[in-house]
Amino acid sequence: MTRDEKLQALAFLDLVSDYLGSGYRQEREAYHINEQFDDSLERVAEDVRRCTACGLCQGRHNPVPGEGVEQPLVLVIGEGPGADEDSTGRPFVGRAGQLLDKMLMAINLDRNTNCFIANVVKCRPPNNRDPEPEEISACAPFLHRQLALLKPRAILTVGRVPTQALLGTSEGISRLRGRFFEYQGIPLLPTYHPSALLRDESLKRPAWEDLKQLRAFLNSLADVNIQGIQDRSEEQS
Ligand code: URA
Repeated sequence: MTRDEKLQALAFLDLVSDYLGSGYRQEREAYHINEQFDDSLERVAEDVRRCTACGLCQGRHNPVPGEGVEQPLVLVIGEGPGADEDSTGRPFVGRAGQLLDKMLMAINLDRNTNCFIANVVKCRPPNNRDPEPEEISACAPFLHRQLALLKPRAILTVGRVPTQALLGTSEGISRLRGRFFEYQGIPLLPTYHPSALLRDESLKRPAWEDLKQLRAFLNSLADVNIQGIQDRSEEQS
């Protein structure tokens, strides 16, 4: 239910209560719907599209809020949009994105059934430079809202930038990859960025080891079957 629908429902309940009570309309204070409890992925995306919190908004053609399913097993977090993402408004759609899709598919994951894909910054840094720490901080509230809404079972960070940003470390990706950490209580596994694999074939094997670890972790969850489909029947009933 959206905020407006909630306000309409409350107005209707007030009307019924006035009619059944005194028979007259009563004066009332305006209702305040707590925005935090009324957030949605679409609202986050709208706020991203309007955002001017850092200088990256000046060069963007399309902000890239992220895409995927609403209750994902895995939230994949990359660095920031490149040229293809900036021109389409969609994450990981260029060469690196196509490789990422293949990597995920190899462990029964994909953005249409059980993943959500986002970045630590939602607008393209000029000339594909690394996002600055201030740009990552300015964008962090969007990722936090997405995380709170998505409640993924695991986070896969791809590459040094998102891994260091989320873990608050300056350690290199080759030391961080393949080890489980936690971010806000959610298991987080770092691996190499797919564009690093495109540049250096020798990274493919360790990346595959990381993905197998992620799959083994997901398989160990009692409510997730081998295809990676989460059983949410108890939540829905
Ligand atoms: N690289 C990233 O880190 N993110 C994208 O969305 C595309 C390429």
